[in-house]
Amino acid sequence: MNPLATTDNLATNPTLAVLGFKRQIVYHLHFWAFIAVAPLVMVQWQKGNVLLALLLVLFCLNAVAVIAFLRFRGIYFLQGRLFPTLAVVCAVYSTLINGHAGLYWAYPAAAALFFLLPLKEATASNIVFLVSMSVVSFITFPEADFWRITFSLGLTCLFVMIFAWLVGRLQVELTRLATTDPLTGCLNRSQLADILNGQIQMRERYERVSSLILLDLDYFKTINDQWGHLAGDKVLTEMALRLRSRLRESDQLFRIGGEEFMIVLPETRQKDADVLANQLLTSISARPFLEDIKVTASASVAEVSKGETWSVWLNRADQALYEAKSRGRNQVVNAARPLPVVGRGAEDMPDSASG
Ligand code: GH3
Ligand code: MG
Ligand code: MG
Repeated sequence: MNPLATTDNLATNPTLAVLGFKRQIVYHLHFWAFIAVAPLVMVQWQKGNVLLALLLVLFCLNAVAVIAFLRFRGIYFLQGRLFPTLAVVCAVYSTLINGHAGLYWAYPAAAALFFLLPLKEATASNIVFLVSMSVVSFITFPEADFWRITFSLGLTCLFVMIFAWLVGRLQVELTRLATTDPLTGCLNRSQLADILNGQIQMRERYERVSSLILLDLDYFKTINDQWGHLAGDKVLTEMALRLRSRLRESDQLFRIGGEEFMIVLPETRQKDADVLANQLLTSISARPFLEDIKVTASASVAEVSKGETWSVWLNRADQALYEAKSRGRNQVVNAARPLPVVGRGAEDMPDSASG
């Protein structure tokens, strides 16, 4: 099995899946480029082209480093900048000293740029490459060949650029489709663990405290039964709009179940999240949806505590939401702080645990 394929992540997180595919492209490009270029070191050395042989050695060493770092450390060595730079320099220099024998390598080098560099950078590098190759062809070959080389290489660059651009757009669009809920446009569960883990790391490393709000519509089944499923869908869409309109840019809104939403509030303490949750419930109950449908919601608030995992954090919020439902709905309940772990300092003790 390919060591770079992390099937667990591929199955659950589309963003990581795309990253996984990018890493595989990088890995395979470096691997096959190494296989193709390594023998050329000897060829150029024997021909007395010492400088080119040394450049090719550097190219091979970089390929080995990138493969090793990706395989054993999961790091993209120097962001892959050396491969395109060396490939371009070698192709131009080889064409200058070896003529046609060097020219053939310009085509795979041009294509590789688009798979290793961001699109804008690849396009700029390719323009520089094309101009350099044109100048070298003008010096090295008859005029007819110069034109053929310039146009065929230019066309190759253009085709690969269009292909790389389309693949990039496809990746963005597929990631968007896989990470958002089509009805409301909210994030879906695929991002949940990553985003909560991100907030937990901010808490652990920098003492930055985040909170989350769980919000579940009250008696939504009755709304569906009374007004129809389509009206229910419209209520959910409008709900997402109302919630979003009161959130900050940095807050993240999820739809984590049929009529259940979660809001992650970075840099927000429990008491501020509580105020916001109450405002959200008021904005829901104050004005009917679709002009006639009266809706209320219940909510819970939980600030992340030191040392807890995302599932424990979410579970605390879930328990508090259950409490809000059983206390009669249309209200906010603050999650109880977790019990302190034995041996942990007093600074982690709850300062308030309200309901
Ligand atoms: P509670 O106050 O206890 O939360 O009651 P409830 O009726 O809201 O909760 P329950 O879990 O019993 O029912 C949830 C309902 O939400 C049932 C289901 O038909 C509805 N629902 C789930 N997803 C969708 C959806 O995408 N569109 C519509 N229209 N309804 C949905
Ligand atoms: Mg409900
Ligand atoms: Mg529910």
